[in-house]
Amino acid sequence: MAKTHKAIHTPGLEGALDRLEHLCRARGQRLTRQRRAVLSSLLSAGRALSAYELLERLRPEDGKSTPASVYRSLDFLMTLGVVHRLESTRSFIACEHPETPHWVQFLICRRCGQVVEAEDERIAAATESLGQRLGFALDQRVVELTGVCEGCRGSAARH
Ligand SMILES: [Zn+2]
Ligand SMILES: [Zn+2]
Repeated sequence: MAKTHKAIHTPGLEGALDRLEHLCRARGQRLTRQRRAVLSSLLSAGRALSAYELLERLRPEDGKSTPASVYRSLDFLMTLGVVHRLESTRSFIACEHPETPHWVQFLICRRCGQVVEAEDERIAAATESLGQRLGFALDQRVVELTGVCEGCRGSAARH
């Protein structure tokens, strides 16, 4: 059957998929079609997607996708550091700079769903020292902040 999907030419998409392939090879792991499709969907969406939204995007291409298989692919991509999970919205987003391990802050717009990944070293250091002060060995230091993004604030003002 001929491929019917349009080629996606999002800048950086090919680069990110090549990088994923490289990361998998370096770890001796297989880049399955679904793992690749999950990352590619997240990158082309340009926003966070829930596992079910991902499934809806994958199904036309691969009818065998199931919620369980999507979660397994997401887990795999998270261990490679190319996908982050947003706890507050139970969704997943492609990482903008997966080259180095990092503890980031996410700014999430509750109107349009836009997510900005920021890396503020002072906040990372502050969370680390907070953990130490209260006797916690932190294993999850991602900070999620919600609000209204600049674009949405602008459009609200014009109304
Ligand atoms: Zn990241
Ligand atoms: Zn917004």
